[in-house]
Amino acid sequence: MKTETKQFKAEIGRMLDLVVNSLYSKKEIFLRELLSNASDAIDRAKYLGLVDKDILADSPDWKITVSADKEKKLLSISDNGYGMDAEDLENNLGTIASSGTKKFMEAAAAKDGNNLPELIGKFGVGFYAAFMVADKVTVVSKKRGEDEAFAWESDGIGSYTVSDAERDAYGTTITLHLRDGQDEYLDEWRIRDLVKSYSDFIAYPIFFESLSKKEEDKKDDEKKEPESPKPLNTMTALWKRPKKDVKKEEYDEFYKHLTHDFDEPLEVIPFSGEGQVEFKALLFIPKAAGMDLYMPQSKRGLSLYVRNVFIGNDFDLLLPDYLRFVKGVVDSSDLPLNVSREMLQDDQVISKIKSAVTSKILSTLEDMKKKESYDTFFQTFGRVLKEGVHTDYVNADRIKKLLKYPSAQSAAGKTIFLEDYVKKMPQDQKDIYFLCAEKEEDARNAPQLEQAEKHGLDVLFFVDPVDEWLVDSFREFEGKKLVDIARGNISFGSETEQKAEKEANEKASADPKPFLEKVKEQLKDHVADVRVSSRLAESPCCLVASENALSPSMIRMMRAMKQDVPEEKRILEVNATHPLVEKAKGLDGNDFADAVELLFDQALIAEGSPVPNPSRFAKLLTALMMK
Ligand code: ADP
Repeated sequence: MKTETKQFKAEIGRMLDLVVNSLYSKKEIFLRELLSNASDAIDRAKYLGLVDKDILADSPDWKITVSADKEKKLLSISDNGYGMDAEDLENNLGTIASSGTKKFMEAAAAKDGNNLPELIGKFGVGFYAAFMVADKVTVVSKKRGEDEAFAWESDGIGSYTVSDAERDAYGTTITLHLRDGQDEYLDEWRIRDLVKSYSDFIAYPIFFESLSKKEEDKKDDEKKEPESPKPLNTMTALWKRPKKDVKKEEYDEFYKHLTHDFDEPLEVIPFSGEGQVEFKALLFIPKAAGMDLYMPQSKRGLSLYVRNVFIGNDFDLLLPDYLRFVKGVVDSSDLPLNVSREMLQDDQVISKIKSAVTSKILSTLEDMKKKESYDTFFQTFGRVLKEGVHTDYVNADRIKKLLKYPSAQSAAGKTIFLEDYVKKMPQDQKDIYFLCAEKEEDARNAPQLEQAEKHGLDVLFFVDPVDEWLVDSFREFEGKKLVDIARGNISFGSETEQKAEKEANEKASADPKPFLEKVKEQLKDHVADVRVSSRLAESPCCLVASENALSPSMIRMMRAMKQDVPEEKRILEVNATHPLVEKAKGLDGNDFADAVELLFDQALIAEGSPVPNPSRFAKLLTALMMK
């Protein structure tokens, strides 16, 4: 082929611009990214070689070599992995209009380019980090199974070329023409340090080779037997090493390598499965949620190794969906090497690993409950974890114990576990009370809360849309029913208190019966019934749903999702002893109608719902204030 010059896709051009001009001090991460790519390329060759023996015709000794030429200021990273042909070079290094690149750009723009390197890895654009230290990058590669080699070259500004190249061995060499002032990366000790701190666990040996020294020492070397070089890395898979022998930094670096996250993990979970299936696992709970946490088609799952061979990322069969935020590796010798995803679908070993992994993660979370970090965890991933109550029948009870909610008696912004709620329940409280609202603040101000508070009872706030959706699957917690205090008939307190209240209510309702009828007649388009309330203390009235009706927040949510929600009238409950209600009883004609309308409107406002006619509401209120 003749040399072809091509323009980078617009996003890549812009991204390179950012990378090149980044003032970030941690330029060194470029090496981690390139070594990681080299290691991936070997993983790939090894895996594909299981099926297609021709790929490994040269019976390779897998290795990665970092070579430095001090005179020419060249640093190169070579691997004998899978390699790339002309098309791959173009697709992988030139034209990816991948969503990753776009997201990277958006995130970079939001962060002012300050944390650029941390973003580079996260969005799978690691290769381009090379341009932080190099003003020209040359990639020469020969793909396994093919005869020709190709070169890709770019100065990182606007365009790149792809051309024919000479190369005997299969694999890839990436050569960095270092910028001025980047000579440190030609130094063996610097490279050794970087490998130790970022890439020690890479499963293939990483060698250092000094090209300039080679020239100088050639004469000497001819006399001596060349000693076999020692790799810079220890190569042992972290999950195979006993936990006590692994430093936290090593786990952290491995996590970063695995996830491209720049932050440390919140929790590291090394463990091994024994008994029915033998496996080793190294799992991580991240600190922050990836942006794909709620995307149904996003990649999720764990990396799978079978007897040291990397089989692939994103094995979602190893993790239940509600634990999809967990990252990590599973290594088992109980699986056949030539496994495919399809085969694993109903594999017994896989489902046993999955249930062991699930149980281990849940027990880790159980241990974390006492720690401060649990709140960070729960704020970030709680919503996903909750899905498990609905989907994991076997573990639902364990998951329930991991959930936290704001409550009427806890400080604003603080949450409590269900078991704390139950522990605090007075003896005569049989059910767990909750109230649904869109925001914690709305719940705190809800009139429906008044009687419960007066009786000293705590009420959980379900302010996450999934909470309400979960109530049905939840059914009970430790034998206690979950009861919505804004629904149906409800009374609080001891049996005697309840009885007394009921009698008082009956009396109170008998007295204003004609009044209630009149109100009902006037509001007949809006409410199904009007009755005396047993949940109010200070407020004159509130709206409640019948036992099986959708709650206002659920209705709002469904409407927001453009779903058809049938109009369902609720019940207006009035506080029979409230002075305002007393006053309204004495009115008639238009005065009565206006007062009733206002009472209804403010019941809506109190629960965070819009009033049907805001301008009319304002007019009525003004008129009332004038009086
Ligand atoms: P990522 O590695 O996250 O996919 P990169 O920008 O680092 O993103 O690399 C882009 C792609 O280029 C890789 O996915 C891979 O297909 C290819 N690639 C990079 N380095 C190598 C290599 N040494 N050998 C083979 N392919 C490589």
